[in-house]
Amino acid sequence: MKFNFYALTKKNKIELFSRDMSAIEDDEILVKQMACNICTTDYQQWQGKREHQGYPMAGGHECAGIVVAKGKNVGDSFGIGDHVAIVYDYCGVCESCKKGYITNCENIDQFGKNYSSEFYGIFGFADYFKRKAKSFVKLSKKLDFSEGAFVEPLSSVIAGIDKLTINSESNVIVIGSGTMGILNALYAKSLGANVIILGTNEKKNKVANRLSLDTINPKDCSYKDLIKEKFNKKLADIAIVAAGSSSANQQSLDLTKNYDAQILFYAAGYPKPELKVDSNMIHYRRLNMYGAYGSKLYDFNRAADLLSNNSINVKPLIEAKYKFSDIDDAFKKAATKDSFRVSLILNEEK
Ligand SMILES: [Zn+2]
Ligand SMILES: [Zn+2]
Repeated sequence: MKFNFYALTKKNKIELFSRDMSAIEDDEILVKQMACNICTTDYQQWQGKREHQGYPMAGGHECAGIVVAKGKNVGDSFGIGDHVAIVYDYCGVCESCKKGYITNCENIDQFGKNYSSEFYGIFGFADYFKRKAKSFVKLSKKLDFSEGAFVEPLSSVIAGIDKLTINSESNVIVIGSGTMGILNALYAKSLGANVIILGTNEKKNKVANRLSLDTINPKDCSYKDLIKEKFNKKLADIAIVAAGSSSANQQSLDLTKNYDAQILFYAAGYPKPELKVDSNMIHYRRLNMYGAYGSKLYDFNRAADLLSNNSINVKPLIEAKYKFSDIDDAFKKAATKDSFRVSLILNEEK
């Protein structure tokens, strides 16, 4: 059979390709891919901001679909007709993989030429694709595919927040009301924490409000007082930086309590954001600073569960759905400042 996919061949250029699918190996699963959401990684390479990832890039990794065939060693863990989300390729035996951090596999690059000698990437923007069975997690059949495609971003949120000491007493400020800011806020709230999102974009703040999340706009000059008011005269115990900017970094120091605060740097930023902090401040304030990047296999499974049982509602975070052939328009929409996740529909549901 043939399969069709889109790849970035240079800045601002997406091209359609068609290739023969080789026979399914014993440990592989063939998936009819239904929806793939356009991640920042994808559209920023399209914009020319992440060209270091290489061309041609058969991108797209936030993808969900239906199992249509499986190899003879796959066993009962996946059946024909099961709904699944994609997990990165990984070796399973290196030090990182053994710790569960499959996104940092030492033998297989996340966006390397793992599936082709010709293309980088993991072929999310393809109508059909096959991968090793260990590169999938199962989803509820009731879950919309574009929502199921949130497994990967949600898994990285879970991996980050699980590094913190967080409970129902915790006052958490999430800086940034984009898709990832809201996902961080939703997960922190699901753990019982009191959460406020600090966001400059009113449209995005409104969507956060629809998800029962409290928001404050830092353009309001008294935002620090407002935060204190909402946190019972206190500053935040925890700040999660979900906007890749120097000002967001600085706010995290300013809006957290004097002693033993925890700061999680979730977002990457291009150009590189700065953080002005001297070691005396870290020392005297007993600051706990954490980085968040990637996910463990456990986090992918947990994300699939939280989405499948409706514990985390991502429906309002889908900005728009586009047909497979309208990928150019989908990328344009994804790259506009006001957009949440844009979902590319790879096959129509019958
Ligand atoms: Zn992503
Ligand atoms: Zn590995």
